[in-house]
Amino acid sequence: MARSSVLGYPRIGEKREWKQALEAYWSGRCDESTYRERMKDIRLARLRKLQASGIDLIPVGDFSEYDHVLDTAAMFGLVPKRFAYEGGEVPASVYFGIARGTKEAAASEMTKWFNTNYHYIVPELDGALPSLTENRPLHAYLEAKEALGIEGKPVLLGPLTFIRLSKGYDPADTDAWLDRLIPLYERVLRELEQAGATWMQIDEPSLVLAGDRQDRDRLHRIYSAFAAAAPHLSIMLQTYFESADDYETIIGLPVKGIGLDFAHGRDGNLAAIRQHGFPSDKVLGAGVVDGRGIWRASLANGCKLLDELKQFVPSDRLIVQSSCSLLHVPVTVRGEDRLPDVLRQALAFADEKLAEISLLTKAAELGTDAIAAQSGESEAALRALNEHAARNRTDVHAAVQTVAFQEGRRHLPFADRQPLQQAKWQLPLLPTTTIGSFPQTVDVRKARQQWRKGEWSKERYDSFIREQIDKWVSLQEEIGLDVLVHGEFERTDMVEFFGEKLAGFAFTLGGWVQSYGSRCVKPPIIFGDVAFEGAMTVEETAYAQSKTSRPVKGMLTGPVTIMNWSFVREDIAREQIAYQLAYALRQEVEALEAAGIGLIQVDEPAVREGLPLKREAQANYLAWAVKAFRLTTCTVRDTTQIHTHMCYCEFHDMLGSIEAMDADVISIETSRSHGELIHHFERQSYPLGIGLGVYDIHSPRVPRTEEMTAMIDRALQTLDPALFWINPDCGLKTRGEEETLAALRNMVDAARAARQTF
Ligand code: GLN
Ligand code: ZN
Repeated sequence: MARSSVLGYPRIGEKREWKQALEAYWSGRCDESTYRERMKDIRLARLRKLQASGIDLIPVGDFSEYDHVLDTAAMFGLVPKRFAYEGGEVPASVYFGIARGTKEAAASEMTKWFNTNYHYIVPELDGALPSLTENRPLHAYLEAKEALGIEGKPVLLGPLTFIRLSKGYDPADTDAWLDRLIPLYERVLRELEQAGATWMQIDEPSLVLAGDRQDRDRLHRIYSAFAAAAPHLSIMLQTYFESADDYETIIGLPVKGIGLDFAHGRDGNLAAIRQHGFPSDKVLGAGVVDGRGIWRASLANGCKLLDELKQFVPSDRLIVQSSCSLLHVPVTVRGEDRLPDVLRQALAFADEKLAEISLLTKAAELGTDAIAAQSGESEAALRALNEHAARNRTDVHAAVQTVAFQEGRRHLPFADRQPLQQAKWQLPLLPTTTIGSFPQTVDVRKARQQWRKGEWSKERYDSFIREQIDKWVSLQEEIGLDVLVHGEFERTDMVEFFGEKLAGFAFTLGGWVQSYGSRCVKPPIIFGDVAFEGAMTVEETAYAQSKTSRPVKGMLTGPVTIMNWSFVREDIAREQIAYQLAYALRQEVEALEAAGIGLIQVDEPAVREGLPLKREAQANYLAWAVKAFRLTTCTVRDTTQIHTHMCYCEFHDMLGSIEAMDADVISIETSRSHGELIHHFERQSYPLGIGLGVYDIHSPRVPRTEEMTAMIDRALQTLDPALFWINPDCGLKTRGEEETLAALRNMVDAARAARQTF
């Protein structure tokens, strides 16, 4: 019989109970034992749901109180030395300390989980020897069995991926680290086997990235050891997010099951199976339902795929499952009553995906006809959305087609337009500016809520926003900044704000997904053609400009960032969505320029996030991402200065693309890279305007002038002073007013001092 499974399920609960429990505990509003009870309730509630859904192999141990990579490190006692930890089970204070920092010790770094918007805590292998502090998968397995009679499938991050995601060790020591970890994993597996577990999911998503010969040997070593340690425990070696890099090696490993992603690695995985077949002693974990996308599955296409797979694997060796953990999608579409019907019918979040998996499992066993009625429904829903007017705006299609043919070049190259801009704006050497937002105080947030709830009239809210702008324009003048901003007080979020004003977007009421720790995001849904419907930022920006003789910089979010931070439609290519956004935003850029705004910043902090995992696909992505930015900004006058901003990311392999964006000025978050970024520019100078953030805005600490002077001095050793700008790292939205003012005063002092040296 074909069976069904999922690789993981959201932790946060239907109403984000998880976040509330965590934050109550952190703030001291809830004691540890109450907190433990609440977490257990959440864990069991989700297991009950999975049980009721009829899924055969229910994952256990994928639940986490913060992050599963941190869980794995904690389970092996891998606590960075700066935390007071003396061995044994890692206490909550240390666990959350690593994640969030303590008074004495800085938090561990957090970074993106492959190409998702989930962030994990980077383990630090700083020398302490690992030991098994707690058999977490065993505890999860026993809990599910004892409380609910569930024969669960424990989930654990595999050793190769765990080491690859860690830092602080010499890659030449990879094998030594494996030698230390393998015996600990063996014990985990042995104890699970003894407790009666039958299946175990070991996640090795790094196997979709390019590996080498050594990795092949390592995989054999790891999985032979596991097979010997727990011969009766069936291991599902699970890959996801792309096709397996080295299918032939993987199918030769002594494991019972191989899990492949047929949503995001469909073509590569299918080609590998067609070429090499599938071993007759193994079970295929067929990830046919997209675990990351929010759209309803085409059951007809799912059946077709399963039919093809059945040519290689009989149904009793098939597990029909999600392509990856459902962690990356919201919990349920239930209750989304405000969405247009045609859209709601075409959505499937985690709970709806459970039902789809069950249906496809039935079809794998009994044939497509067994689910004909449901399949018809899903096709009708998808067709209705595709045929909907929102997806078929011929005006948008025609315009974007024309625009996308253009190269997106400014009239003059930078070297020729820069002197014109300089003549027009008359900025001093090393001009000072900020990245856009100023502190969103309790008052600002309260005002917005009151307006949204209808307690405040639009007039009252608008005049409140104008007061904020007045206040901060004069503060910026007083501090002595050269290029001012209006402060973004009217925006909750840099994507939502624009999404609400553009056509083609929809917003859920409760479509939250975990981003990092307790922080959840509610991405907008780009379900239709994106179109400009009227000016979005002109009023506030022009108002700010009317209050000062200094230039005010307009502030927009760029096309690629808006796309990468939204859930997007899948009936057209991402590239096309980016061009639709570019064309819409270009009209905003032009509207700002027409209203007399001559410096316009188009933020693109999320360009890197969309980078494909497969190296061969990266250049193409970067090319159209850069083009989308250029299409947004290319039609302005030579004297109009285009700025952009990027937050910290791995820039080293992207500097060429950043230059190709051809922004007159880019500001980049620098301090979190510990000087690495400056180091890259030391090797490769930058020919356009650039500001490397001179202080970290993530901390309330006010940096001294001398610290910023040191940053400036170092940057100016390689970068051209005539092109260098002085600004903080990022927007100041999350900071308090006082610390912001003090830090900016020191920054302006540092700029003045630096000017003296020329
Ligand atoms: N303009 C945005 C702001 O200042 C930029 C945010 C960011 O750095 N990601 O808030
Ligand atoms: Zn930033």
